[in-house]
Amino acid sequence: MSPYDLQWLVKHTEPRAAQMVAQLKEQGIDHLELLALMGSIARHEFVEPAFSHLAYSATPLPIGRNQTISQPVTVARMTQWLLNYARRGRVLEVGTGSGYQTAILAHFFNKVHTIERQESLYQLSKDRLNRMNIKNVEFYFGDGQMGWPHKIDMDAVIITAMASKVPVVLTDCLKENGILIMPIDRPSSCIGCWQKKGQHWKCLGTTSANFVPLLEGKEYA
Ligand code: SAH
Repeated sequence: MSPYDLQWLVKHTEPRAAQMVAQLKEQGIDHLELLALMGSIARHEFVEPAFSHLAYSATPLPIGRNQTISQPVTVARMTQWLLNYARRGRVLEVGTGSGYQTAILAHFFNKVHTIERQESLYQLSKDRLNRMNIKNVEFYFGDGQMGWPHKIDMDAVIITAMASKVPVVLTDCLKENGILIMPIDRPSSCIGCWQKKGQHWKCLGTTSANFVPLLEGKEYA
């Protein structure tokens, strides 16, 4: 049995994940493939070890470098929007963090491009997803507000840190009808899902949520 198979088994014998999925259903998440996936991913491997006993609880948790992994329902809502509205070609994620959202995206999209500004988180998440044998992700260490280092047209862009303004380079790389998911703190903290329609943006949904801020530049170690 390969290490990947063993990991699959460990994942599937995690009772706390089943409880988390039951809670997600109660909170209105109804995409069956997404629920099954979230029930099978070892979320405790993505948080700081001291908090692994809380990994399946309805709370954000530390992942190192003063950053947090979002609570399960927030990840689920953002992903469910993508699954309902986006073409499953290329997605750009800004804010790799622990790589948990990245791993979920990798399951559904052909290709995931993910950017992280903290060097150690970039390296940890890259190593973690490699160990999980997830192959369709390209990692980049940099400021996501500058976009992907070369021009690629995306079917979706998901930002997992709270923005105060919309980084134009991230909307420019979206294809027509592409989906943008972004937490924004004006007028109040919420996450929105928009579809690009020429020069206009059609709002497909919003939900309240808190996120760590989207910051400028990159940080070493
Ligand atoms: N999706 C992540 C959540 C990470 S929290 C997960 O599942 O764990 C937000 C992340 O965004 C942090 O790791 C933070 O360092 C990163 N971040 C903040 N501003 C950024 C920027 N301008 N470019 C890239 N990453 C950024």
